[in-house]
Amino acid sequence: MSEIFNFCAGPAMLPKPVMAKAQQEFLNWQNTGSSVMELSHRSSIYMKMAAKAEADLRELMSIPDNYKVLFCHGGGRGQFSAVPLNLLPTGKSADYIVSGSWSEAAAAEAQNFGDINVININQNKDSISTLLDSNEWPLNQDAAYVHYCPNETVNGLEINNIPDTNGVPLVADMSSTILSHEIDVSKFGLIYAGAQKNIGPSGLTIVIVREDLLGNAHKATPCIMNYKMSADNDSMYNTPPTYAWYLAGLVFQWLKDLGGVKAIEKVNKAKAELLYQAIDNSSFYLNHIDSQYRSKMNIPFWLADESLNEQFLKESEQAGLTALLGHRIVGGMRASIYNAMPLEGVEALVNFMQEFEKRVR
Ligand SMILES: *Cc1c(COP(=O)(O)O)cnc(C)c1O
Repeated sequence: MSEIFNFCAGPAMLPKPVMAKAQQEFLNWQNTGSSVMELSHRSSIYMKMAAKAEADLRELMSIPDNYKVLFCHGGGRGQFSAVPLNLLPTGKSADYIVSGSWSEAAAAEAQNFGDINVININQNKDSISTLLDSNEWPLNQDAAYVHYCPNETVNGLEINNIPDTNGVPLVADMSSTILSHEIDVSKFGLIYAGAQKNIGPSGLTIVIVREDLLGNAHKATPCIMNYKMSADNDSMYNTPPTYAWYLAGLVFQWLKDLGGVKAIEKVNKAKAELLYQAIDNSSFYLNHIDSQYRSKMNIPFWLADESLNEQFLKESEQAGLTALLGHRIVGGMRASIYNAMPLEGVEALVNFMQEFEKRVR
């Protein structure tokens, strides 16, 4: 079979070398005669692997010592509940910045648990989608925290600057952007990310939380969602998603071998620039997002003549470029180009787009 480039938004493609290593040790991991997924999470060999994965993530993101790293269940949406349960005491409110469909969903879920102040920052200027500058967000200085989504996976909108919240803890849903570029973790109170975009397979969620925010969970918080409980038990209060944790560890090692986040950031920038240039240099393809808020991970684009959508999708798939169908709520196409997507994949997509345009125009 010729090479396939998978542009799925999530679960997304994983690095080839990681998959090959997992395959090679699938039946017999580290001479145990068992698969890693058949071993106790409390066995010393598993715990050693788990601790190394955490240490590697800490190294990759330069996570300060006063932050806990939790390996949780429940996905990004699980955190939509866990965040207010743990961080929003009765009598307080939280600010939720809405910049697209995921931050909107996070705000809607949080409203089940407390007083939520929804701040919609989406704007339209001359049919360009843009966002209100973070200096102008009407934040509430008494809020328990400010929640936002730096990369809106569906809408293709990214907020590059870390907003200044004047001391109010900043909570970020980084599901589709974690590890894609360097960030200063100390600017955040809490970062969470479902694994299935940039970390590993689905079923694992990473939470990075500043220690002083622990210990104030609502009484009704389920134990498996309680950050303090997870932290006190090294993310093994209940059985963690052991295989996903192991695969995440392989991805962290792969990223370290490549030169870390700084190195992949360069590649990610080159990939995004190449694709946006191809879109902007043609009137056949469109992207209406303000250039300063364009996502480097999820790039939606539309054909000027939408009647060609089906043909584009069919023929791109035949060319080995899969999962380019846009999210149903925005339509068109979407290329998700996370860390595991090589530059060659984006080059192949751009070549196809140019060839397609010439042929059908
Ligand atoms: C994919 C995604 C989620 C949802 O994750 P689940 O693991 O399916 O709950 C949440 N937020 C963002 C930004 C995402 O991209």
